[in-house]
Amino acid sequence: RRLALAEERHLPAETLDHRPVVLRANVATPADARATLTAGADGVGLLRTELPFLNHRAWPTRDQHAAALVPVLRALTGQVVTVRTLDFADDKLPPFLSTGREDGRIGRGLPLMLAQPDAFAEQFRSLLTAGAETDLRIMIPMVASVDELHACRELLQSAAAELAVPAPPLGIMVELPEAVAVADDLAREASFLSIGSNDLTCQILGLDRRDPAATPAMAAHPAVLDAISQVVTAAHRHHRQVSVCGDAAAHPLVTPLLIGLGCDSLSVAPAALDEVRARVRRLRHDTCASTAAAALALQTPEDVWQLVRQHCQPSL
Ligand code: PEP
Ligand code: MG
Repeated sequence: RRLALAEERHLPAETLDHRPVVLRANVATPADARATLTAGADGVGLLRTELPFLNHRAWPTRDQHAAALVPVLRALTGQVVTVRTLDFADDKLPPFLSTGREDGRIGRGLPLMLAQPDAFAEQFRSLLTAGAETDLRIMIPMVASVDELHACRELLQSAAAELAVPAPPLGIMVELPEAVAVADDLAREASFLSIGSNDLTCQILGLDRRDPAATPAMAAHPAVLDAISQVVTAAHRHHRQVSVCGDAAAHPLVTPLLIGLGCDSLSVAPAALDEVRARVRRLRHDTCASTAAAALALQTPEDVWQLVRQHCQPSL
């Protein structure tokens, strides 16, 4: 079956009624980057950058960022690469951030980055140089307010001015309820939006990221779908593209809902690319849209899953 799906790699990711879905990959390593191209993705929708530094004793320097980034970016020359800035959080915590804290917790990472503008600027400098041969986009995780986005933009613009290069598009991840609440303002100011359904689902449903109940399928909860719908509406009002880069993007019971809500792009693990493309090609956008609209009026994720099984489950 895997082989048969791989045969569709050169075919467009579009629904039966010709709605294109930009299909990108989530990567962290050079091997991921190569797998992305082999599977025919339209570049990278999420490059996670914090993973090489989870055992570090200090904030990474420009050179340390470059050492981690260059091997991945070299494999992606000429491609869209959406690089996410460092996203340290309680579930991804390096020793230099956890030691000395009584509870060993830092909460969310962006305020911490903004409190260390020099460390943040080092990553921007490194990215601007290392990403020069790619179609680089920079994405900020855990944004809660327009002020935070402005602060990030200032740091990026000064790094670009210093290096005498143009600043790349700057987008945001929507993964906090605070961001959903000000989605319209964020959409006006950001170049693009990407929904982090892993965190957003947990945040809305009050689940811990490490809770086994926090599965990708839970993004089908009507409360989460309602938030996603608000974000898509705000993004499109300001002519911004909106993607989903959490694991729900590749879940068979959620992909149709995301397409139905109007998400322009899905970013999934390289190993999921063939299956997601094949699924998109067997769905009708109009059916996904009516199913998503009906799902918004339901009460539980189980009810939504059942509806999707009835109307949007093509056999692969
Ligand atoms: C997310 O929260 O959905 C996401 C893509 O980011 P991470 O899983 O790295 O927190
Ligand atoms: Mg996240």
